[in-house]
Amino acid sequence: MIKRKAYAKINLALDVLGKYPNGYHEVKMVMQTIDLYDVLSFESFDCSTEIQIEDRIRLVSDNSGELSLGTDNLIYKAAAKLVDYFPAGKGVKISLEKNIPVAAGMAGGSTDGAAALHGINELFGLGLSDEQLCDIGVNLGADVPYCIMGGTMLAEGIGEKLTKLADTPELTLVVAKPEMGVSTKYVYEHLDAYDNPPHPDVDGMIQAIEQADKTGIADRLGNILETVTVPACPEVAQIKGILAEQGADGVLMSGSGPTVFSVFSDVEKAQKAVDALKNDSPAKFVCMTKTCSGKQ
Ligand code: ATP
Repeated sequence: MIKRKAYAKINLALDVLGKYPNGYHEVKMVMQTIDLYDVLSFESFDCSTEIQIEDRIRLVSDNSGELSLGTDNLIYKAAAKLVDYFPAGKGVKISLEKNIPVAAGMAGGSTDGAAALHGINELFGLGLSDEQLCDIGVNLGADVPYCIMGGTMLAEGIGEKLTKLADTPELTLVVAKPEMGVSTKYVYEHLDAYDNPPHPDVDGMIQAIEQADKTGIADRLGNILETVTVPACPEVAQIKGILAEQGADGVLMSGSGPTVFSVFSDVEKAQKAVDALKNDSPAKFVCMTKTCSGKQ
């Protein structure tokens, strides 16, 4: 059996530069892996060579919550992309331990899809390179190539053009998500209605990371998608307010939200913020974590 951690991401900076003729948005974002992960386990089983694709891929979980484990799950979709490479007469059973909140802006689905590509590649010794996995993964979602690579990256284009950045210095984070989920599609579509939303300083963020300047990073956190999600989900502003009151050095919504993360200079303060959020706030998921390289 093979196990893989599927790490969540946050965006330290997220800008939208424009729109392509096909309707996709052009983005410029700094992606960062955090130490919060789902766990996927992979086992092969014998099956007849005449069996249908759906019978060669089994997805199970005892804590997937509301999440479907059917053919719409990104783990299933990722496995289906590789099914032609499976050895004859073999299928894969994948067990999912779901820890990352769903529809939260932390790429929970994309990271599971990426982990499925890696896991099956390893289980069956397919020998596909990261680059080949990214080429397959981009058809599952724009964030999947990043999730295949992990760490600290600049993502451009629709999110698939990746440039490796220096590793972010380790940051203590408090992550909190209100009960509601937000659809990424809804947020991007509604951004177009705003004339001149405030753009974050992505280049300044990259510079602060290269200089391992924690204060500079905290000062430059910025996400253009807050323009849409904050009015649609007032809990985001409430949670941001509590984290600021608790002495966070910087607070930002991740991705299309509604998850909020905050950078703390010390663990004790961060723990107090966790307690405050658990005690009295609209946050339904709260954890203390840190930035990490995303290595297995
Ligand atoms: P992103 O940050 O990439 O925009 P997100 O964190 O906002 O993503 P996800 O948790 O990836 O959102 O969920 C988006 C949708 O993807 C969910 O509504 C869910 O139905 C679908 N989905 C499919 N497979 C998975 C999976 N394995 N885990 C989570 N969501 C999945």
